[in-house]
Amino acid sequence: MLKILDTTHDQFVDAFRRRYGKGAHISSPVYRHVMKTGKTAFHELAAVAGLSELAGQLETDLALTPGRLIKRVSDGDVEKFVTRLADNLDIESVVIPMFRRHTLCVSSQVGCRMGCRFCRTGQMGLLRSLTAAEIVGQVYVARHRLGFDIRNVVFMGMGEPLDNLDNVIQAIRVLTDQRGLDIARRYITVSTVGLTAGIDRLARLDSAPVNLAVSLNAPTDVIRSRIMPINRSIPMAVLQASLLRYPLARKSALFVEYVLIQGVNDRQEHARALARYLAPMKVKLNLIPYNPAPGCQWQPPSAAAGDRFHAWLVAENVFVRRRGEKGGRVMAACGQLGGKNEPPGRLPLG
Ligand code: SF4
Repeated sequence: MLKILDTTHDQFVDAFRRRYGKGAHISSPVYRHVMKTGKTAFHELAAVAGLSELAGQLETDLALTPGRLIKRVSDGDVEKFVTRLADNLDIESVVIPMFRRHTLCVSSQVGCRMGCRFCRTGQMGLLRSLTAAEIVGQVYVARHRLGFDIRNVVFMGMGEPLDNLDNVIQAIRVLTDQRGLDIARRYITVSTVGLTAGIDRLARLDSAPVNLAVSLNAPTDVIRSRIMPINRSIPMAVLQASLLRYPLARKSALFVEYVLIQGVNDRQEHARALARYLAPMKVKLNLIPYNPAPGCQWQPPSAAAGDRFHAWLVAENVFVRRRGEKGGRVMAACGQLGGKNEPPGRLPLG
């Protein structure tokens, strides 16, 4: 098989030369054709048209199997799709409309071992990390099989991307290759619970940084350690030092996610402590009401509590946006991706 979904243009050209002994004048149009149009009928491609044996060989050789699309579920204009991988595990991806184009929320692992207590995926544990091809394949499917004009990619689906950093970095290189899927780096966001070694490595990635989002969700170490076990090994001060080192693109900011949970992190003193923690950084905070999965014990905040918390943050000069719950009914909202891999009978601990 000739791999394409996990190769940049130049890697593909090298592999093509080794396999078929043909140069970039043939392999480069093949790469562009597949990645930009999703088409694999090579007889219609001028560079290959006169080489019918090669065209036929390519149609069978190209490893274009990111998995099998097995389910699509819509909630208004948000759509979740499920891909069944070669080893029969399922991953979920979510298409979210953004003006005329779309954002794709991709998974980076099947399950997750970070164990955040408000998160459905976290309750599955980690089954395995995705390959770069399986990550890129989600964008390929959304664009070329489902027909969405994907402009933004956010690594906020199942899994902790920095726990699978080699493959995530390779996927970013493929996604941003202008001769292929051509997604601008400023339109890619990697979301993490705060694995500082990974953040530092991502900071040194190639020439331009991608956006970084941090799932913070708490104003103090006591609360954060209670709802996010990672905080016991990487406390908030260590995380903050790493975030301060992260290079921001011009006119950009760090994105911070804060899931508001009734009775856990929703008091005025929490808003004040959160504002103090964020003050040294250039931050855009997304305030997200907790989205309970069936069987969980915690409750989402009331609309009034959400309003109050938002107002307290504004009064503390925090740049804060309230994120709606687009996708809640298809279990595609924050912390709700799980799928059939979830062990039966295990629900979020709450
Ligand atoms: S919130 Fe993210 S890092 Fe935490 S358990 Fe869920 S998927 Fe993993």
